[in-house]
Amino acid sequence: MILEIPKPALTMYKQTVDFIKSQFPSQDSIQLHEPVFNGNEKNYLIDCVDSTFVSSVGKYVDNFEKQLAAYTGAKYAVACVNGTAALHMAMITAGVQRNDIVITQPLSFIATCNAIAYIGASHLFVDVDKDTMGLSPEKLKTYLTENAVKKSDGFAYHKSTGQKIAACIPMHTFGHPCRIDELAVICNEYNIALIEDAAESIGSYYKNKHTGTFGLLGTFSFNGNKTITCGGGGAIVTNNEALAKRAKYLTTQAKVPHRWEFVHDEIGYNYRMPNINAALACAQLEQLNPFLENKRSLAKLYSEFFKGTGMQFMEEPSDSKSNYWLCSILLPDKKTRDEFLQYSNDNGVMTRPVWRLMNKLVMFKDAICGNLDNAQMLEDRLVNIPSSVRMQIK
Ligand SMILES: *Cc1c(COP(=O)(O)O)cnc(C)c1O
Repeated sequence: MILEIPKPALTMYKQTVDFIKSQFPSQDSIQLHEPVFNGNEKNYLIDCVDSTFVSSVGKYVDNFEKQLAAYTGAKYAVACVNGTAALHMAMITAGVQRNDIVITQPLSFIATCNAIAYIGASHLFVDVDKDTMGLSPEKLKTYLTENAVKKSDGFAYHKSTGQKIAACIPMHTFGHPCRIDELAVICNEYNIALIEDAAESIGSYYKNKHTGTFGLLGTFSFNGNKTITCGGGGAIVTNNEALAKRAKYLTTQAKVPHRWEFVHDEIGYNYRMPNINAALACAQLEQLNPFLENKRSLAKLYSEFFKGTGMQFMEEPSDSKSNYWLCSILLPDKKTRDEFLQYSNDNGVMTRPVWRLMNKLVMFKDAICGNLDNAQMLEDRLVNIPSSVRMQIK
């Protein structure tokens, strides 16, 4: 369907598209997020190939794990083949079992929910906050007060289904940190394992602490569209040595360490990041800080531009420093959102609405839901705009 856009709105959309184009002058069509390879990527890749260690062992995997732990301030990092596998593994190591309940937000990328499904656990959707776009502590507290009961084994159970509420997975949406310290207090009170889906928030801090390090475990993604990429990749971070060791063991086929014998004593997973991807990951991590500066300066320009336009730029929430992975704006309603999506995509600037809410997808239509008003509002009105590192700016 082609929308008839009213004249004043059309002028506004044109000005917006022209402004976005002026930030990416060398590109004919502007994508939402493109990778930049300006550092040691080629050197490390050549070194990796020359060494023949391109696969499941090698120095780049070890280096990347050390460097990621140091960067985030976590004690341990375990590199994984992608962010989805990292989420799956985080739940396994946290002890989540088939038929347990896992709480997450309806406003997320499908990977979070898919990983919960791999466990055979049930999804429970709790609303997000309007400003952070991540899981709402108030809504979580209200939901648990009304629907959870703590039994004598020390764990929380759902009053009506009787299932154990084993884990809670908030997500730091588009890089903006959610109120993770408050979520941690609530999860602690109910003895629910807190796993942060920090796939989008490498380089984002809440109260000066890196996202992904507040819960029992945190996970990252280094897919091609993320702030830094190694082609495909992910990682788990944790401060718990036993969990880190278990994640490493399970991601490497659960092999009993031995110099030549092949003995496995549990069902394991081939979830380890290959060394050749880790070579790319090391080179990208070296450039993360300049990338963040570049992205934050773009966010500042957007913030200035959108003032008084009727389109609201989503600023980093209070107490936090966002990586501004994907910048986003809030349109007045669904109709103007659709007009802007049509105009921008017709005119060489890629924009997109937020994901269809998870509770509406056929696979999760029977999931338990709290009140989801804020997520619904964001689904109707939010649009992501181009957010790549700008090459012309050093
Ligand atoms: C990108 C992403 C993932 C997983 O990423 P892959 O590396 O592509 O498996 C998980 N959760 C969220 C919210 C993401 O944005």
